[in-house]
Amino acid sequence: MRCIECGFQSELDQKMITCPRCGGILEISVKLPPTFSFSKLRGRGVWRYSPAIAGNYKKIVSISEGGTPLIRSRENSEVYYKFEGANPTGSFKDRGMTVAISSAVSEGYKIVVAASTGNTAASAAAYSARAGLKIYLVLPKDKVAIGKLAQSILYGATILEVEGSFDVGMKAVMRLYKDVGIVYPLNSFNPWRLEGQKTIAYEITEEIGVPDYVFVPVGNAGNIYAIWKGFTELRDAGVIDRVPRMVGVQAEGASPIAKAILNNQDTPQFVENPETVATAIRIGKPVNWKKAMKAIKESQGTAIYVSDNEIMEAQRELARKEGIGAEPASVASFAGYKKALEHGLVDRTSKTVMILTGHALKDPDSMIKSSARRIIVNPDHLENIILGDLNVSG
Ligand SMILES: *Cc1c(COP(=O)(O)O)cnc(C)c1O
Ligand SMILES: [Zn+2]
Repeated sequence: MRCIECGFQSELDQKMITCPRCGGILEISVKLPPTFSFSKLRGRGVWRYSPAIAGNYKKIVSISEGGTPLIRSRENSEVYYKFEGANPTGSFKDRGMTVAISSAVSEGYKIVVAASTGNTAASAAAYSARAGLKIYLVLPKDKVAIGKLAQSILYGATILEVEGSFDVGMKAVMRLYKDVGIVYPLNSFNPWRLEGQKTIAYEITEEIGVPDYVFVPVGNAGNIYAIWKGFTELRDAGVIDRVPRMVGVQAEGASPIAKAILNNQDTPQFVENPETVATAIRIGKPVNWKKAMKAIKESQGTAIYVSDNEIMEAQRELARKEGIGAEPASVASFAGYKKALEHGLVDRTSKTVMILTGHALKDPDSMIKSSARRIIVNPDHLENIILGDLNVSG
């Protein structure tokens, strides 16, 4: 384990979540066993890759997360969608939560806490329920998509609402964790969560080999790093010979990392009041920004930002051309890919994977704003509409 702020180093210690010296973010370095081979793995989902997951687990708390579909585009056979909406609570957060909650249980914690824009909350609530832990969620009041709030309520979490953005809640959880050690934090500054999320890279590699590009929506910026980390572990073990270029996609109103990358700045300028329809990435101060910038730079990737209009247009296009329903933050990857194509950053022959991070049902309000034909009809005369359409289209 190594602190990315002060360089502190330590042997693997599952109790350690932030740097004991400076409170900074820790990296867990994993070396795959020399015998690692996909053909020897058993089972499905996140724990299929347990030889690669750091830590010792007395008990594993799982709801069969991971093993999500990698869906080939119907328009371009080089392009794939990794549909993380197929996880038990409908987002990739479940991959990290199974590891973090198993770790919390193994270390004897009874109380867990998370700040969230919604999906971490839903996932943490489900896994805490399954583990029999008490959970407190810190949510930005009136800023959580209705599906995610409903899930958190269903799974029985205590919900603490704060005025302001996610960043306010995140800061509060960080302080709580530092001052009150009995509470286990489930946010992505917890590096054990990223051990689970990195299995996205293992699954992609096992199914189609190494892509040229992986597009990832970026909010708090843990996931893009986790996926890159997975690929680098496979490369360092000689399983693959290179790592894909990681492309981070942010929403324009919450794009500190994308702007830093595009302007060649080493440090992002944080956004005080982030705004976007893509609530899962409405984050102005991404806690993992250093890790994300490292992943982007070392993979020779890049970052892009997209407007809310581009996001909503991408959500409709993905649904209406490919039959895939993903929430607004998720389709940032698709919107980013379309923009990258336009700008010549990628071409159609590049093998590309877009990470679709969460399910469309998470945010019904965004879907229902889409244009649709909804007609009040006389049930005896449905054919008038259909035959009328036929006449119009010839
Ligand atoms: C959490 C989340 C993200 C952002 O992931 P980070 O690791 O915070 O960058 C993107 N999309 C969805 C749907 C999410 O739930
Ligand atoms: Zn440190």
